[in-house]
Amino acid sequence: MSERETPRLRPDGATHDCAALEHLERVAWPQLELAAIEVAIVEAPIDVPVRGSFGAMASRVSVLVRVRDTQGAVGHGEVWANFPEGGAQYKAELVRRHVAPLLLRRAFASPWEAWDTLERQLARLTLQSGDFGAFAQACAGIDQAVWDLYCHRIGAPLWKLAGGAPRVEVYASGIGPDDVGAVIREQADAGHTRFKIKLGFGDVVDRHNLDVALDALPANATLYTDANQAWDLAAARAWLEALEGAGVAWCEEPICADTPLEGWADLSRRHLSIRVAAGENVRGLHELAALASRGGVQVIQPDLGKWGGLTGTLRLHALLAPDVWLCPHWLAGAVGLGASLQLSGALRGAGPVEFDTNPNPLRTQLLDASLRITAGAVLLADVPGLVCAPSRADLDWR
Ligand SMILES: [Mg+2]
Repeated sequence: MSERETPRLRPDGATHDCAALEHLERVAWPQLELAAIEVAIVEAPIDVPVRGSFGAMASRVSVLVRVRDTQGAVGHGEVWANFPEGGAQYKAELVRRHVAPLLLRRAFASPWEAWDTLERQLARLTLQSGDFGAFAQACAGIDQAVWDLYCHRIGAPLWKLAGGAPRVEVYASGIGPDDVGAVIREQADAGHTRFKIKLGFGDVVDRHNLDVALDALPANATLYTDANQAWDLAAARAWLEALEGAGVAWCEEPICADTPLEGWADLSRRHLSIRVAAGENVRGLHELAALASRGGVQVIQPDLGKWGGLTGTLRLHALLAPDVWLCPHWLAGAVGLGASLQLSGALRGAGPVEFDTNPNPLRTQLLDASLRITAGAVLLADVPGLVCAPSRADLDWR
């Protein structure tokens, strides 16, 4: 795309329900100018590391972004920074020193103009540095904050501006590899009806945990699985067959995210009742769309703090075929979770949002507003913005 082209929010050739984009394009967005972009890193110790098949998180960390316009309105976003430990500092510096200056003291006519500006301005620096992921994450967090700011300026939540609905389906995530049965029962009591367990810890552990999960699953509940890229194609084929036979509804990242699309298509198209899910480790509008169209992946899971923010994900949704679910991936703090829930509320036909069940004070204690789950869904409040402002006094914004 040349520097002079300013793309419309709605892409050509859209195949999904574009009602959200059409509503958002009709909003009378105010012209605004950003006066400040600040970052705060917040880290919370946890008693038990969060384990996946590729490694573990020993603490929880959030890189928060706060934008302020010349009228004094503020918005918040969250940059993905789950691992490796220490990476948060680098991402915060990227925002402060290299990304924020591109947006300050510029006039914007809509929330997606900030994202488009960053994509254009950072294209060559990103290539030079090779830090594609870190820059994409920095931009994604800022994009969330800009959308939050715009929604506060308008005085409405995103789901309402987009003509969506406040009831957002969620699923309980991050379950296993230990205590699978106990956590499912506990989360069922908390209101969840969909549960995702982790696999990829070896066939013996995985088979045991699958049996335990099936045994603990409440009546009419749904079971998802996530291998975190653990298997090769042959192992994935065998596991998908077993999981389909057990009634599992989706298998997430059975193979590495960078497997050629033919590999994804080979897995996705041989099964009728189990969906293949992926996307948290894929970056780019066309790359994610191709994962669905050429790779056959039926559950696309962009992470709003890793790539695209709200802008990219709204555009992505419009490129997906109607039978493909867009299910926001999120396993970090309350700010990004709030943005993910708002996005899903804005879209029609989106699948459930990931809702981490591991202890994380940054998810449960950072904001005053608490999220209650009832019958597998969150009911979003009819209040302005994506999230309320983080209320902790010890946040070191700079
Ligand atoms: Mg996952």
